[in-house]
Amino acid sequence: MPIERPNFVPDQPVDPHDADPELFGIVDRELERQNTTLQLIASENFASRAVIAATGSVLTNKYSEGYPGKRYYGGNAIVDEVEDLARRRVCDLFGATHANVQPHSGANANLAAYLAVLEAGDTVLGMRLDQGGHLTHGSPVNISGRFYNFVSYGVTESDERLDYEQLAELAEQHRPKLIVAGATAYPRVIEPAPIRAIADSVGALFMFDAAHVAGLIAGGAHPNPVGVADIVTFTTHKTLRGPRGGCILTNDADLAKAIDKAVFPGLQGGPLEHVIAAKAVAFREAAQPEFRQYAAQIVTNARALASALGAEGFRIVSGGTDNHLMLVDLRPFDADLTGKLAQEALDRSGITLNKNTVPNDPRSPFVTSGLRIGTPAVTTAGMGEAEMVVIAGLIARVLRHPEDTHESAAVRDEVAVLCSKFTPYP
Ligand SMILES: *Cc1c(COP(=O)(O)O)cnc(C)c1O
Repeated sequence: MPIERPNFVPDQPVDPHDADPELFGIVDRELERQNTTLQLIASENFASRAVIAATGSVLTNKYSEGYPGKRYYGGNAIVDEVEDLARRRVCDLFGATHANVQPHSGANANLAAYLAVLEAGDTVLGMRLDQGGHLTHGSPVNISGRFYNFVSYGVTESDERLDYEQLAELAEQHRPKLIVAGATAYPRVIEPAPIRAIADSVGALFMFDAAHVAGLIAGGAHPNPVGVADIVTFTTHKTLRGPRGGCILTNDADLAKAIDKAVFPGLQGGPLEHVIAAKAVAFREAAQPEFRQYAAQIVTNARALASALGAEGFRIVSGGTDNHLMLVDLRPFDADLTGKLAQEALDRSGITLNKNTVPNDPRSPFVTSGLRIGTPAVTTAGMGEAEMVVIAGLIARVLRHPEDTHESAAVRDEVAVLCSKFTPYP
C-alpha cells in the first residue's frame, strides 16, 4: 500500500495560464501592448527569449548568500558555475579584471559603490538631475543626497554639452572624495579621459555610471570607461538588453574587495541567481559581432529620428545626438504644449515615451517642456532609418492636435500596422 500524503506542491499544468489565468491574462495583455505599440522609452529594450527563459528558471529557488566558492549555505556548486560564468563573460566583454554581478538594480549598484568608498557626509560631484543626472547622483529625496554631500555640475548654456570646465572648477573648489559621471537623459558622449584627469588633479576617485550606455560601450559605439574610471557601474536591462539588474566593474584589487563587501553583506541578502544567469546570457549576446552592428544601428536610428523631428519643427537639445536618445524641446513647436500633455497624447496614440526637463527648463519636473525619446527597443525590433522618419511624422501629427481623439485613434492604427512588421515577440 502506497502511503497517502497530501501534496503541497501547487498544481503544475504545462501551461501556466491553467494554473493562474488571472495573472497570466494580465501578462498576455502586456505582451500584446509591447508587440503592438511603439516603445520609445530610452531606458527600455526587448530582452531575448533566452534571457527571459533564464529569468524564469529554477535558479530562483536557490539561496546563495556570499560569492562563488565562499557561500553561507550548501548546494551551491552549480550556482557557483552560473555566477562565475556571468563574471567571466562580463569581464571579457568590457576588459575588466573584477566584476560583481549581484546588484539587483542600477540604483543598488551605485549605492554599493558609494558604500565601498565613502563615509556618510563625504563630498561627491555628480551631474545635475535636471540636466540629465540620475536620482542616485545626489537627489535630495534619494539616499545618495541624504547621506552624502553631493555637489552638481551641468551642461553649458551655449551648446548644452557637459561642462568639463565647470566640473574642473567645482572639483578644485570642493575637493570631492568621488566624482560620478554618467547620465540618464544626456544625448552626447561622456568622455572618461578628461574626467580622469580632473579626478587625479584633486586626488578624487572616479566612478562612471554607464547605466544607459553599457550596450553602446559593449558594442564599440562609445568609449570604454573600464580602466579609466576606478569603478564602473551599469544596468543590464537598458541598451545592454539583458534582464533587469545591475553590475559593478573595477580593475583595482582593493576596490574589488570593498565592492564585494558592500554588495554583500553591506547592502543585499541572497543574490538573484536566475537573474545572474540571464545576465550571463546577455553578456554572451553582447559579445557577438551582430551586437556591434546593433549598437551602431541604435545611434544611426537616433540620429535619423532627431533630424526628422527637427524637420517637423521641434528643437533637439544640443542640436542632435551621439547615443541612443534625444531630448526634444517642445517650446518652438508649440509654446503651450508641455511634456506632460505631449506624453499623455502620445500614449493614447500608441507611442510610449516620457516627458523630461530640458536644460534650464522653466517648468517643474512633473510638467516639463520636453520629451526624452530612445531607439534601443525599436532597433531591436528591426526598425531602421526609414521607420524613424515615419515615427517622427506620427509624433508630429499627434502633437499638432494633442486633444484630438480622432487623430489619436488614427495614429494608433498606423502605429499598429508599423509594429505588425516589426514585432519583438511574434
Ligand atoms: C537607470 C539608471 C540607474 C538606475 O537603474 P535602476 O535599475 O532603475 O535602479 C542608475 N543610473 C543611471 C544613470 C540610470 O540611467
